Amino acid sequence: MSGAADPLGARLRTYEGRAAVVGGVGKDPVNSPMIRHWCEAMGDTGAAYRGPDATAPPTMLQVWTMGGLSGHDGRTGAYDELLALLDESGCTSVVATDCEQEYLRPLRPGDQVTFGAVIESVSGRKSTKLGTGYFVTTRMDVRAGGDLVGTHRFRILKYAPAARETRARRPRPVVNRDNAGFWAGVAAHRLLVQRCTDCGTPRHPWLPGCNACGYLDWDTVEASGEGTVYSYVVMHHPPSTAFSEPGPATEPEPEPGQGTGSPYAVGLIELAEGVRMVSNVVGVPPDKVRIGLPVRVEFRTYEDALVLPVFRVVGGEG
Ligand code: ZN
Repeated sequence: MSGAADPLGARLRTYEGRAAVVGGVGKDPVNSPMIRHWCEAMGDTGAAYRGPDATAPPTMLQVWTMGGLSGHDGRTGAYDELLALLDESGCTSVVATDCEQEYLRPLRPGDQVTFGAVIESVSGRKSTKLGTGYFVTTRMDVRAGGDLVGTHRFRILKYAPAARETRARRPRPVVNRDNAGFWAGVAAHRLLVQRCTDCGTPRHPWLPGCNACGYLDWDTVEASGEGTVYSYVVMHHPPSTAFSEPGPATEPEPEPGQGTGSPYAVGLIELAEGVRMVSNVVGVPPDKVRIGLPVRVEFRTYEDALVLPVFRVVGGEG
């Protein structure tokens, strides 16, 4: 991409080749205890890493250059300046993307490591699933006794986060042998209430036996779908687009950035048949839901053909 089309990228690339760390010195010489701990943690029983002629595992390269909590001297500030420029441009998020190492000769206990780092490259502006930004690669050259023993390339993506998924997937109901008949009814847009065939008591949620008489046999009655709000809560936190209005997948999605989840009402609905059922109350803003409001069932289809009953306030809006 040309500098004219991407002035920020052109400016960022002026940092290519600039030193990020000069004259770094390893905090400890290469040593047997750290090698032993590493091998134990990795489960590496290689004979080359033990005994009087032990070498350090090559993949320990970065161990010898880590600054620990107290950090390192020798940082030039160039890398921080580069990141600050990206922050100012809106590329406020960062993710490490990959690391490449090259090993030129083995390190041995007693080797004192020195190192320097350079900002090797800055990519053009890239669009990724995470967002749009720039890949920044730094290269650390690790030396011992004047020899280059390895290089360590570390790449990050510094980016402006893309808008989040506009709507989260609605959680699926847990369907089991006891309640499968209820959900089969819902899929067919029928609200089925279990009824004891001995004493005639209706029940919901579905259960294997009658709470009133203990009898196990049952049949169903199709509810009229009429009911009233027996009780309710309005959920504010955590915000979830999976439950917020508008619910159906058939309605337009919110604009990017708008799908952050808004409050929604969960009601305990008393059906005309005398049982109570938990579901969403829709058709009025959540803060207008009241105990005693008349409601009527509505079957909504969500993503992946999920059908759920919700209750719409009779005479409510929309
Ligand atoms: Zn019964």
